[in-house]
Amino acid sequence: MQIKTDRGAKMNVKILGYWGGYPAAGGATAGYLVTTDEGQILLDCGSGVMSKLPTETCVEDLSGVILSHLHHDHIADLGVLQYAAAGAIRNGRMLNKLKLYAPDNPVDILNGLYGEHTEVISIDPSSKIQLAGAEIEFVQVQHTITCYAVKITYQGKVLVYSGDTSYCDSLIELARDADIFLCEATICEGSVHTTGQGHMNALQAGMIAGQANVKQLVLVHLPGDGDLEFMRDEASRSFQGPVDIPEPLRMYVV
Ligand SMILES: [Zn+2]
Ligand SMILES: [Zn+2]
Repeated sequence: MQIKTDRGAKMNVKILGYWGGYPAAGGATAGYLVTTDEGQILLDCGSGVMSKLPTETCVEDLSGVILSHLHHDHIADLGVLQYAAAGAIRNGRMLNKLKLYAPDNPVDILNGLYGEHTEVISIDPSSKIQLAGAEIEFVQVQHTITCYAVKITYQGKVLVYSGDTSYCDSLIELARDADIFLCEATICEGSVHTTGQGHMNALQAGMIAGQANVKQLVLVHLPGDGDLEFMRDEASRSFQGPVDIPEPLRMYVV
């Protein structure tokens, strides 16, 4: 399969959803579509992601789906994506099951992910996987349930996604020298969106980005009632490189 990318780039990421917890009007929670010359990977499949996906791709073109963890704002639309997969298999457009990489707990939620349309593969942070021609690594981060940050390397370019986490050193190591770092920033002064447990503010996201020496920071998993410009400024206090707040369907060439 050949997928067109901009300006001869080898990898890009399209932000399908960037709200944390629950979406703002018309938006979506976590969902990031990574495209290489050899395939496409969906990172998380939150609320509203399936209404954005059809303008970008279709289920049979996904090389696989990776879930950072099994909270609803990262998996809410997965069942709907699986309906699309079931339809594509039934109609002969999709020859293999949907490949789904996920943490192996909480078990009650994991058990709901299985089906005739889906091959569920437990994430093992001690082994790398190959998808869409890319090498993918995982490291466990600090959240309220098991959660993995994800590093995707393709043709020498590196994208790192934090998943949901509080400040943690393992994330700095994973993000080291990344070309683009999608990092959660859920806590904002004046916001009542989250209790803050298992999350970071923008200053901390900037600190991780700075210590990891990444080239570009994109703040994601944002609070719907947050002051996003303030958050960008906060991140810039601790990170000297470019800091971006995504817009709907914003694409970044890696
Ligand atoms: Zn979340
Ligand atoms: Zn979470």
